[in-house]
Amino acid sequence: MNSDNGTRLSIAPDLWARFFAGQRLACARLISKVENEPELLPEIRDRIIPRLHGAVRIGITGPPGVGKSTLTSGLARRAVQAGHKAGIIAIDPSSPFTGGAFLGDRVRMAGLIGDPRVFIRSQASREGHGGLSPSTANVADVLDAFGMDRVIIETVGVGQAELDVLTCADLTILVLQPGTGDVIQTLKSGIIEVADLIIVNKADMPGVGALQDSLRFLFDMNARTKAKPVPLVLTATAVQDKGLDEVYAELERLIRQHHESGRLQEKKRVRLESEIKAALEDELWGRFLSLGGDREDIAALADRLARSGESPYPAIREIGSRIRMQFDTAKKD
Ligand code: GDP
Repeated sequence: MNSDNGTRLSIAPDLWARFFAGQRLACARLISKVENEPELLPEIRDRIIPRLHGAVRIGITGPPGVGKSTLTSGLARRAVQAGHKAGIIAIDPSSPFTGGAFLGDRVRMAGLIGDPRVFIRSQASREGHGGLSPSTANVADVLDAFGMDRVIIETVGVGQAELDVLTCADLTILVLQPGTGDVIQTLKSGIIEVADLIIVNKADMPGVGALQDSLRFLFDMNARTKAKPVPLVLTATAVQDKGLDEVYAELERLIRQHHESGRLQEKKRVRLESEIKAALEDELWGRFLSLGGDREDIAALADRLARSGESPYPAIREIGSRIRMQFDTAKKD
């Protein structure tokens, strides 16, 4: 089927109709397309972006086993009780199925499975793409257009991959537990410096005071060099649903604060800027290929330069000027 301007339409109008009518199966199918069919992305983005309501994306990160899923369920439940619709994207490092089932167990315990106000999606993280699946930001937008106004992105670990989560989250919660050396890992990764809120979970276990002391010490040291405000540290016992009212209240307070300060809007702008840059890179790469260049040429060039010890820039300038000439010709037409 062709659209008015002659480009190929690839998503059945019926799928869009069902998506915009709020059918969950259609939402799940569209997310699969976002994840697996990048060539459909421009069409999906064209339809989705005008329907965004400004859902707030909340990143929840921290080492495995600290209670992120339990906390996510508790926060999602409070969000729906407060009248919101909550999307949950669980980034699983291995299989999307195990991750889904695992999170599903927690969410079932919290009574969220089957709740029409909650949409849960598990995503495999893709190693080699900085860990975070590159489609996570787009999946969050699909959930936003589907009507969710709180989207929780839960990730596992405290490395570079998790730092990437922060690029698509408006706010980040770091979860830690007492009695482990995880705080050092989070410090190395830089996550502790960008977290908006820190939860010391498993407050029923020994060592809470010591962990709070190390965090305080870290922030005292950092306060002299860093401009970012020191995040609040709250304690919780997620498995007993204790302390979560305070966590939820603080989260909503932060959302209001970031809304008023313009930070949410700025995050949106930054996300769009990186999308535009990435799409333009693809476009230019496409142009290079359409000029007769191919990936093999680049590999052969790199191979030759590695052996000769020459700089690659003369070749880069040459390719650049061919693309510019094509661009100038197109502008004149
Ligand atoms: P995640 O890997 O960070 O998502 O952690 P989970 O939410 O799956 O929790 C890991 C384990 O810790 C589970 O067995 C939970 O029941 C348990 N857990 C979660 N919160 C608490 C808590 O506050 N105290 C204790 N003692 N266990 C907890």
